[in-house]
Amino acid sequence: MGGRQVTSGGIQGAAAAHEFAGLRVTVAGLGVSGVSAARALAGLGAGVTVVDGGDSAAQREKAEALAADGITVRLGDAETLPEGTGLVVTSPGWKPSSPLFAAAAAAGIDVVGDVEIAWRLRGPGAAPWLAVTGTNGKTTTTQMLASILRAAGLRTAAVGNIGTPIVDVVLAGTDETGEPYDVLAVELSSYQLHWAPSLRMHSAAVLNLAPDHLDWHGSMEAYAADKGRIYEGNQVACVYNVADKATEDLVREADVEEGCRAVGFTLSAPGPSQLGVVDGLLVDRAFVENRQSNAQELAEVSDVRPPAPHNIANALAAAALARAYGVPAKAVRDGLRAFTPDAHRIAHVADVDGVAYVDDSKATNTHAAQASLAAYESIVWIAGGLAKGATFDELVAGAAGRLRGAVLIGADRALIREALARHAPEVPVVDLDRTDTGAMRAAVLRARELARPGDTVLLAPACASMDMFTNYNKRGDAFAEAVRELGSADG
Ligand code: ADP
Repeated sequence: MGGRQVTSGGIQGAAAAHEFAGLRVTVAGLGVSGVSAARALAGLGAGVTVVDGGDSAAQREKAEALAADGITVRLGDAETLPEGTGLVVTSPGWKPSSPLFAAAAAAGIDVVGDVEIAWRLRGPGAAPWLAVTGTNGKTTTTQMLASILRAAGLRTAAVGNIGTPIVDVVLAGTDETGEPYDVLAVELSSYQLHWAPSLRMHSAAVLNLAPDHLDWHGSMEAYAADKGRIYEGNQVACVYNVADKATEDLVREADVEEGCRAVGFTLSAPGPSQLGVVDGLLVDRAFVENRQSNAQELAEVSDVRPPAPHNIANALAAAALARAYGVPAKAVRDGLRAFTPDAHRIAHVADVDGVAYVDDSKATNTHAAQASLAAYESIVWIAGGLAKGATFDELVAGAAGRLRGAVLIGADRALIREALARHAPEVPVVDLDRTDTGAMRAAVLRARELARPGDTVLLAPACASMDMFTNYNKRGDAFAEAVRELGSADG
């Protein structure tokens, strides 16, 4: 397979281990990735101190467990740099403007993330990385990619922003059967890319770019620049979204290895060096002999679940990365068929009285909500929560023709109500004026009143959930529970 011949550009294992031995490392954050990085580095002989601003009972308990392994934990001070620090390893949530990093910069000390550590720990012949980033669709695409690679008989894992911490996977180097990984499917957030300057991917995809997390990055330009890092030094393919010019611009700006190709994906018929859709089929005009005149059928659109447009785009991006690695067409189809999406991502909960109830609680920003609203003809839309500085005009104007009604919940619902009044004044709106957890049940009941047979009641909040719920999972669970109550009340 093509990909196997590609040698990795990473620092070699023995040298990397040596690099950390005896080094005084400060790990920022006692979360999952911080703890995993701390243990890994201590295991390699580094002197590790974990710092965290919190000082809860649970954190003290964690600190004690780490202390038993020779790791120092300093709670209640996230700002000052411990004496003698030679490297700072950060966790994704920490803002670049954090005082700890300012202190590191002033002292000329590098700050890197756990993904960078994982990359530096790769040994000779380590599995290459196929990487995915984008504002929305990362997890789904990375999992689709892993499923396709598995269908091709390759040993792989979906890692990075998902699954087992990437440092642990790289250090183990083998799957649960003890066999070495052939290739890794790596989801990378913009935060992780920001703190990982030396990654060099076999191939990588940027799915889309829309404003998100701007409070963290400071500006849209800085956010795009961090996403664009995923293409730097790519070896075989830079995969971009033909419908999203910003992704193609990032490919153009990237400094890649000689021979690395730009490969587009599109929901229309593909041009040469693109993957796209023709007559209900996903087709490849990039990784075929004579791409001027040839195309290879990969799968049917109906092999993609759910077959919503944005998700077909995700499948094409996953297919492009897999094909760049040399996977046969049949494995793309088998992998897509074997794939089941994670919960709360356009999950069909139930049909009640001829109305479909769909949980897309993971649509936590307007770009994601736009994608799911585009997937249904006639919708009763449940939306609202924490807007994170977003505006809703474009979203509402684009969906107005498909809205049967809207039910609004959460702290920032007025922003959506006002956008509806401006762009969809005919659409009936129920403003629930509630932010308690039980509001979801009321929202589902009101949505049911608005819906007619053939409609879809769609939870696609376009907002974060934390004003009402612990996280988007809990919000989706509350929706599904309320829908099931409807169903059983009927039955
Ligand atoms: P991420 O890991 O980037 O958050 P997920 O795969 O978990 O992405 O999907 C998150 C949400 O984004 C989904 O629930 C769906 O609403 C939306 N989404 C998924 N793929 C896309 C896409 N390609 N374009 C726009 N929105 C998408």
